[in-house]
Amino acid sequence: MNIHEYQAKQLFEKFGVATPKGIVASTAEEAGKAAREIGGPGLVVKSQIHAGGRGKGTFKNGFKGGVHVVDTPEQAEEIAGKMLGQTLVTHQTGPEGKLVSKVLIAKAVDISKEYYFAILFDRGSSGHAIIASTEGGMNIEEVAEKTPEKITKEFIHPTLGLQSYQCRKIAASLGLRGTLANQAVKLFTAMWNLYLKSDCSLVEINPLAVTTDNQVVALDAKFNFDDNALYRQKDVVEMRDKTEEDPREVAASEFGLNYIGLDGNIACLVNGAGLAMSTMDIIKFHGGEPANFLDVGGGATKEQVTAAFKIILGDPNVKGILVNIFGGIMDCNIIATGIIAAAQEVSLNIPLVVRLEGNNVEAGKATLAASGLAITSADGLTDAAQKIVAAVKAA
Ligand code: ADP
Ligand code: MG
Repeated sequence: MNIHEYQAKQLFEKFGVATPKGIVASTAEEAGKAAREIGGPGLVVKSQIHAGGRGKGTFKNGFKGGVHVVDTPEQAEEIAGKMLGQTLVTHQTGPEGKLVSKVLIAKAVDISKEYYFAILFDRGSSGHAIIASTEGGMNIEEVAEKTPEKITKEFIHPTLGLQSYQCRKIAASLGLRGTLANQAVKLFTAMWNLYLKSDCSLVEINPLAVTTDNQVVALDAKFNFDDNALYRQKDVVEMRDKTEEDPREVAASEFGLNYIGLDGNIACLVNGAGLAMSTMDIIKFHGGEPANFLDVGGGATKEQVTAAFKIILGDPNVKGILVNIFGGIMDCNIIATGIIAAAQEVSLNIPLVVRLEGNNVEAGKATLAASGLAITSADGLTDAAQKIVAAVKAA
């Protein structure tokens, strides 16, 4: 799960991470009021969307920049009016862009240098790591590729946590000394507490800025949270903005399904994450493109299967469906009943290949056969993948 920058700022305040004062607004009038409360001169108006690259983005109506530094509250109000209700396209939104329905009005600071700072779950070391760089405000992937020597990585011990010597080491690697180093150490420690206590999987500050009056402040924030820990993060869950998420994934999460939308045209409905991954692989191997990853889990109910089917069929790109079920805990007949219920609710007019194996498979096959639906049954993974790829190509 992700949150907006203005929400991340609330967490910054709670955990004592230095950041300029900011107020969120939904209308130009509110933005003007917020700007007067913060006070000029020097304000920044920032589009609130779940994507980075806003500063260099362009609105679909041609207006340039999703982040503007202005002098007066009147200018802030005017710029907010130009952003709100418009669609902003950045290198992270895709060509369709994202609708700006809120702006953050914040105090602008005089930047002397921009840095990059992040804490993330690092799969390579199976632990948490800090990444910092003197190349702030830039695309960090590009820095990593072109000038990897400008990136510092520090691994955090799983039980000892972030140590103060590590914070000082990172500050030194950024060239920060004296009072700047002390402020940076304080900020890194606060970020680590925030990261750990809020069950984040990524916190990124880009840029982390040093101001001309020698303050170390966080100017931007990107947060990811571990979805599996959300049950114990009630405050975080309240920050969820479903309008920013893939509607297919929102629907899936409501039914407890593990669904990730992709760009292909062959939908998959599978039980078990490993089997779902191999199903996607084998579709690709036989020349097709999967439209999604979908794991209905080991003990899916008929309602979940029906919901899964509807989500799949709601995707206009889907030109064929492959159901691949290995009934271990799962009863194949439940899957069969779910498929039929869903197919009856949504008129199914695309090829459907079903591979059932395992627990109660005979009953499942009999249920499908008796339904009168045009279902192609398959034996084994290869047969199933070949059949659905061929059916979609022929259609
Ligand atoms: P994005 O990464 O989506 O482009 P940022 O929040 O990083 O958005 O803003 C882009 C740039 O705008 C920053 O690199 C920084 O130079 C400037 N900026 C952002 N917030 C402030 C601020 N409070 N004061 C001064 N400049 C800012
Ligand atoms: Mg940024």
